[in-house]
Amino acid sequence: MGNVELLARRNAAVPRALSHATSVYAHHARNAEVWDVEGRHYVDFAGGIAVLNTGHCHPRVIAAATEQMSRFTHTCVQVLAYEPYVALAERLNALAPFEGPARTIFFTTGAEAVENAIKIARAATGRSGVIGFAGGFHGRTIMTSALTGKTLPYKRGFGPFPAEIYHLPFPIEHHGVTVAESLKALEFLFRADIEPSRVAAIIIEPVQGEGGFYEAPVELLQALRKICDRHGILLVADEVQSGFARTGKIFGIEHSGVQPDLVTVAKSLAGGFPLSGVIGRESVMQAAEPGGLGGTYAGNPIACAAALAVLDVIEDEQLCARAEVIGARIKARVAELAQRNDTVPIGAIRGLGAMIGFEIFAGRGGTEPDAEATKRVTARALEAGLVLLSCGVYGNVIRILVPLTVEDHVLEDGLKRLEQALLV
Ligand code: PMP
Repeated sequence: MGNVELLARRNAAVPRALSHATSVYAHHARNAEVWDVEGRHYVDFAGGIAVLNTGHCHPRVIAAATEQMSRFTHTCVQVLAYEPYVALAERLNALAPFEGPARTIFFTTGAEAVENAIKIARAATGRSGVIGFAGGFHGRTIMTSALTGKTLPYKRGFGPFPAEIYHLPFPIEHHGVTVAESLKALEFLFRADIEPSRVAAIIIEPVQGEGGFYEAPVELLQALRKICDRHGILLVADEVQSGFARTGKIFGIEHSGVQPDLVTVAKSLAGGFPLSGVIGRESVMQAAEPGGLGGTYAGNPIACAAALAVLDVIEDEQLCARAEVIGARIKARVAELAQRNDTVPIGAIRGLGAMIGFEIFAGRGGTEPDAEATKRVTARALEAGLVLLSCGVYGNVIRILVPLTVEDHVLEDGLKRLEQALLV
């Protein structure tokens, strides 16, 4: 059955709230390449939205998952525990981007990790307030939709949301917001809406993902750390999209030298298997009562086994270093294209490691976002055989999340297809 027939079936069977970046139905995939149900070949610059830093079906990840699957697929860790869960917690504790003892607990989705980080922060501080950032994305459950800093399509029609959630402007130079202005807004918030002694946590993505691949300025992270220390507030780094070598380090926040208290992880942790977690300082993680955290599928054994293999691959294939090489190559290529006058207006090329974003503007040299032109670029990319995603609060950012294991010739092929997509 072809893409068109499958789309028609989908349209009759699935609600419209589930949106799709493409109308392609996948058949099989290997590393950074996908084939659809009609046998058409694509280079994958989306990586399942930041899930496939180790590529589609990495042989070591598949072998680890298969081995686990042949023994058992589920016991519920709260009934019969298993070693891969414990081993993975130990591995992540050793990788935690802060000094001192760490503990890790697992869940299934990124949103669930964020939900639980908030529960843990509230239990540890005895406070309720949580502060996030405009443009931030933390998930689609009620609490994480509330924390997400974008109303449409994430909030409209879904309220009321939990109380005591606040947002600060996220500093982005060409949107005219400085670090000083973000910090000033926090000062106002403390004065007008919630005194610091009632704030449990400040949550921030070290690099905003859905919001547009904007790096949190180091001065902001340092200032937040100081403010959190002064007032006993916990700093939560949401590394769901930026984690696991994407930025050239295991965690994006490591670039700043700032040490968070809690870290949420998911996506590339398990190379395509549903797994998420909260890594945190031991004193904070021990606060919630026994039985207060968990879930039937949380820390699924197949996913834990896959994640252990993912961490081995990141280490053995030196994917942090590889992210820097790939990122530099993509940036240089896009910068070259931005100089030409036969492409759409390209600007604001940026990124840590291989978490590369750039923007499509209405005019060359300008900064007015052009969401329509961006949609045309992703559509043309698909026609050229490239799976390419956009993001950003104004819908005009192209983001590149190619697997870090991509072969050089496949990356080159993808960049040629990207060039075709950007030509006018
Ligand atoms: N946090 C961040 C930073 C994310 O990018 C996402 C997903 N895009 C989430 C949380 C939510 O993850 P999930 O979709 O697995 O619930």
